[in-house]
Amino acid sequence: MIKRNPYIANIKAGYLFPEIAKRRREYQAAHPDAKIISLGVGNTTEPILPHINAGLVEGARRLSAAATYSGYQDEGLLELREKIAAVFYRGAFGADEIFISDGAKCDIGRLQLLFGAGSPVAVQDPSYPVYVDGSVLIGAAGGWTGAGYAGITYLPCTAENNYFPDLEKLPENGLLYFCSPNNPTGATADREQLAVLVRAARRTGTLIIFDAAYAEYIRAGALPKSIFEIDGARECAIEVNSFSKPAGFTGVRLGWTVVPRELAYAGGGSVNADWARVTGTIFNGASNIAQYGALAALESEGILEMRKLCDFYLENARLIREALSRLGVASVGGDNSPYIWARFPGRKSWDVFAEILDKCRIVTTPGSGFGPSGEGFIRFSAFGHRADVEEACRRLAQFG
Ligand code: PLP
Repeated sequence: MIKRNPYIANIKAGYLFPEIAKRRREYQAAHPDAKIISLGVGNTTEPILPHINAGLVEGARRLSAAATYSGYQDEGLLELREKIAAVFYRGAFGADEIFISDGAKCDIGRLQLLFGAGSPVAVQDPSYPVYVDGSVLIGAAGGWTGAGYAGITYLPCTAENNYFPDLEKLPENGLLYFCSPNNPTGATADREQLAVLVRAARRTGTLIIFDAAYAEYIRAGALPKSIFEIDGARECAIEVNSFSKPAGFTGVRLGWTVVPRELAYAGGGSVNADWARVTGTIFNGASNIAQYGALAALESEGILEMRKLCDFYLENARLIREALSRLGVASVGGDNSPYIWARFPGRKSWDVFAEILDKCRIVTTPGSGFGPSGEGFIRFSAFGHRADVEEACRRLAQFG
């Protein structure tokens, strides 16, 4: 029989979210009458707003006529790449530096094909699981040690350092995944912090993969929405982003990745040229229907709709933060991001998860699932219908 890729065996059994779903099912089976509310996963719940939805419908209509039909688009519709450059980057990038994808997570998984097994990987700890799991699958990290994966540099982001890591520990000539606004902590790096990050990356030869999937949730005007607002980032960063969370495209699937022309490997080869080669080889482009939806999202009515949708979830976040504060639970996030990171000092995350499920019938996410420094924390997601969030906030009073 064929042998299994040995790197798959290195992945710890049970991805976080299936494990949470399993525990929810077990609880429901034991308590069949319990009406469980989920504040656990980062999945959107509200409908796509009308102008953007009309763009999707138009995309489908165009496929039905010979004059407007389109097939493979490889790196994406030119008009969409130009519009992304204009709306999100003030025209600072050419269309050849913007690659349309079927989502940020998919590109995060594919990007490591550029660097292979030999490049060291650092992550903010806690972090979105695919950064670490993707590194394990490509062989850039080893097996689970009980306190993290061998070979990954975990950079703790804790209350003590205000959720910004100590970059002195950055390995030389490796990759750093950096997410702001952050999933799961909700912390958003300010301009000075990102400038420190870019300086550290350039000093150490690090390539930053900057995940800006929640940038449209930023409400504090001074906070940067892109790593490319920082001088020098073009030589050391790739940015991934997505329409999932601002436009409700989690099920539609559309994202983009910015790979600047200036970005070079040791020895001078072009990362941009390689990314075009890799995506052209293993990815045949995103759905044209989804791309027409994204074009509508980038018109002025669409931009207003994205703002309205993010504001809806931010109001949920405010309600959750207030409910936690009434309980005396310290939390961060939820102001420029849809996640609230609640602190339960001295307790195990899975124990708090079980207690909240049992006393309040609310599913949350245990912080330890995002990395060793997440122990003692719970992530609350603001993605939910308003009535459910309000009911969850009432029920939280039963905790503690
Ligand atoms: N990046 C972060 C930080 C996320 O939290 C998520 C989804 O939860 C994604 C990327 C995935 O985005 P997409 O739906 O575009 O794959």
